[in-house]
Amino acid sequence: MIDFINVSKTYPNGTHALYGITLSIDKGEFVFIVGASGAGKSTFLKLIMHEEIPTSGKIVINDTDVTKLKRSKVPYMRRHMGIVFQDFRLIDKMNVFDNVAFAMRAVGKPSAVIKKRVPYVLELVGLKDKMKNRPSELSGGEQQRVSLARALVNNPEIIIADEPTGNVDPEMSHEIIELLNEINATGTTVIVVTHEHDLVREFDRRVVVLDHGKIKSDTKDLFVKDDY
Ligand code: ADP
Ligand code: ADP
Repeated sequence: MIDFINVSKTYPNGTHALYGITLSIDKGEFVFIVGASGAGKSTFLKLIMHEEIPTSGKIVINDTDVTKLKRSKVPYMRRHMGIVFQDFRLIDKMNVFDNVAFAMRAVGKPSAVIKKRVPYVLELVGLKDKMKNRPSELSGGEQQRVSLARALVNNPEIIIADEPTGNVDPEMSHEIIELLNEINATGTTVIVVTHEHDLVREFDRRVVVLDHGKIKSDTKDLFVKDDY
């Protein structure tokens, strides 16, 4: 579903963020991307989201070489992705319902569909009773669950979460990853960037370690080697 083939990224100021990354994420996989600050994790996600383009190499998403994607096709590609940010990025002028509904309105879903779907998704993340609240009236963990609901609401094929537990307490962090696990169990591909090693250890999933822009280890390779 997502293939990086010898991908390197050098920013215009000369900073080398990624070197020769080759990795493949299958449909339905759950992958943690870990590594120290500056290792290239955000750059990796930005390349998937087409917020940045590689300096060299090829990125194929769902059989499309996105390095050759026309600008006009980018929004269409992003519709298949739900994105969860560390800082939630909710709109405080809107209540919880509308923050989630906004993502559906943006892609032109009819009002009747929105009215059914939004409460359903908020129920999934345990926030149905907070539908009328403003984001500022919620805890960090609750705000992150709203942002998870917003990422999910259009049934994306891929959920991309950038440090989703960076602004929530440890207990809620566990719950956020647990929710991502449940979403993954329904067939959605989930990619989570985190530097929280405890969380990664708790959940026995594929872990890709980035170090100074290179893949230091990938548990998937270990499994493959063990099979031989
Ligand atoms: P991480 O998410 O693991 O902290 P990043 O992908 O943000 O790592 O950064 C990798 C390297 O690229 C770092 O050296 C960082 O300073 C640099 N970098 C990130 N974004 C930019 C940018 N827009 N311009 C120049 N350098 C950048
Ligand atoms: P409009 O067609 O003007 O968007 P709606 O009847 O769809 O009006 O919604 C009016 C307000 O009621 C919205 O701003 C939203 O916050 C809220 N709302 C709509 N449906 C629900 C719902 N199922 N649960 C909670 N709040 C809702």
